[in-house]
Amino acid sequence: MTVFKNLTRLGTTLLLWALLEPVLAAPVPTLNAEAALQDGELSLAGSWGFSWGRWLPLDQIGSADLSVDRVELPNYLVDLPIEGLAGRDGIVRGHGTYLLRLTHLDAAFVRPALSMRYARDAWQAWWVDDAGAVQLLGQSGQIAENAEDQAMRHKASLLILPSTSQGGTLVVYLSAYHSNHSGLYGDFTLREYDSAFRLILTDLLVRTFLIAVGIYATIQNMVFFLRRPQETTLLLLALFSGVSLSRAAFSSGYVDYFIAQPYWSIFFYKVEYILIFWPAIAGLQLLLGFFPVRSGRQLMRLTYGLFALAILATAIAPMSSVTAHLWAYQLALLFFTLLCLLTIIRGLILRLPDARHFLLSATPLMMAVINDVIAGQLASYNLYVTEYALFLFLFVQTQIQSARFVDALKTSEHLSAHLGEEVALKTRQLRLHNELLTEQAEDLSHQNDEIKLIAETDHLTGLLNRQTLDKLSELQFQLAIGYRQPLALVIMDLDHFKAINDTHGHLVGDECLIFVASFLRGYKLRKRDIIARFGGEELVILLADTDLDMALSMAQDLCVNLAKTPVRGDHPDITLTASFGVAELISSRANSVHQLIGFADQALYQAKQRGRNRVSAYTRPAADRRSTTPGAV
Ligand code: GH3
Ligand code: MG
Ligand code: MG
Repeated sequence: MTVFKNLTRLGTTLLLWALLEPVLAAPVPTLNAEAALQDGELSLAGSWGFSWGRWLPLDQIGSADLSVDRVELPNYLVDLPIEGLAGRDGIVRGHGTYLLRLTHLDAAFVRPALSMRYARDAWQAWWVDDAGAVQLLGQSGQIAENAEDQAMRHKASLLILPSTSQGGTLVVYLSAYHSNHSGLYGDFTLREYDSAFRLILTDLLVRTFLIAVGIYATIQNMVFFLRRPQETTLLLLALFSGVSLSRAAFSSGYVDYFIAQPYWSIFFYKVEYILIFWPAIAGLQLLLGFFPVRSGRQLMRLTYGLFALAILATAIAPMSSVTAHLWAYQLALLFFTLLCLLTIIRGLILRLPDARHFLLSATPLMMAVINDVIAGQLASYNLYVTEYALFLFLFVQTQIQSARFVDALKTSEHLSAHLGEEVALKTRQLRLHNELLTEQAEDLSHQNDEIKLIAETDHLTGLLNRQTLDKLSELQFQLAIGYRQPLALVIMDLDHFKAINDTHGHLVGDECLIFVASFLRGYKLRKRDIIARFGGEELVILLADTDLDMALSMAQDLCVNLAKTPVRGDHPDITLTASFGVAELISSRANSVHQLIGFADQALYQAKQRGRNRVSAYTRPAADRRSTTPGAV
């Protein structure tokens, strides 16, 4: 961006220089030797000797026989009033000689120079001093009586006059064979060489800069537009820059210089005229993009319609007529500039963003337009500056828009460049998070299992606790009822366990309980069967789908085996026995689990009563009561 800033600064400086230079050194409008001597500068407007249709012989310039017409000329030779010589298209064709006698040159100038611009056809300039010495000052090409033999090269020249000369005659041969510019045409100014040279150099530098900027802005906006086709403002800016660049190139004479083909000039002039008010149309289109108005689209359509009409009219009208209507082009320029100004003012009133900087960058453009319109009406004009101002305006706008665009582009490029990394980073973070969460979930699940285990089991024996027994037994009960299946419940109580506690201590008693639990677990039970600690040293075994006989046999088996198995570990001397009470759902006709437990408890009580270490079955009161002793079930 610093390159743009510096370029803008350089351009602004050159522009100011170009604008101020003619003001600081304004040419004197008419040939007045005395005034010119005083001011140090001469204009060649004024009274010229003129001969139409022939080259005056240089050696006769000083002779009294030479008769010439006298014509009053502005310093540019346009619309030369030569009656009866114009062709059918109104254009004067032919060639002529101009003579102007200059005196006191040595007193007026250090180094007098004749600045010749806009001579559109072949010309030669000579200096014939008072002594009759002849010197060729410069020429644009070969002058010949026959137009076809004429050769043209560049148009602008700075011709150095002999400074030692006190007086002499400036002789200019001008050809208008090829020119379509309504007659003999050229722009002569007598200046101090240094000042004239500086002016030419400035003009050259500024135009070169403008053309370079135009090329840059056109390419830049075009490239940006191709990358983001939805941003039509970029295309518009590219178009404006391109057209304005072409105009700068046309009007600077560069194109003429490179295409030294006189018949092209009519095309170049017409393009140049048409493009006089193009900047204002372009500006309006751009401004309406930023500060839209309700019927803006129709307005632009109308504008472009008018522009197309103007192009058509310019294309078919004879060049003389086009030149005569310069004011119409300038009026259009003024009109559209006014519309631009109104659009900006409206933006300012509505406090739309960008309105202020548009006003700032458009102000030089407005001033330049006014300058050019006024200058166009003056016989002696200095410099048309709209192009410079337009370029400044376009350049500033282009840079503002480009800066925004580049910012947006950089952000998006940065994002896409780092998107991969960001995604990878985020994925890694997410994976870590996920792993952490999974771990936490596993932990929780473990904890949950543990809590469940703690809640469901008895912490000493690891068997199911009473609460779980209640829940599961209720379920088994319902299932058994539903499927009409038997359900047996065995309740066992260790015999004289109090005595074990008393003899060996409570801890040994606990170990005994743990031993009994593992003894029961070691006994082959089905998955559906449940062993639970009912309370104290009482345990319950719930046997699904098991009738009374099967349950009795199993309890019997347990009873016998327990009595045979010594407590492991440090207490092989202790052998436990237990009493068993068995009840079965169908045979007991219990109507709840509680009742079934109660029946089993009754049977247990009987077993205790009958001497312990035995199994007792619950039978309904009416039925025979069956009692077994170990080994004799
Ligand atoms: P019986 O043959 O009539 O059942 O005689 P008993 O001594 O076993 O009498 P009872 O069943 O009434 O006594 C239960 C004893 O079991 C009382 C208590 O000290 C003991 N006991 C209950 N729970 C535990 C326990 O968790 N640990 C220990 N060490 N002893 C317990
Ligand atoms: Mg007990
Ligand atoms: Mg007991």
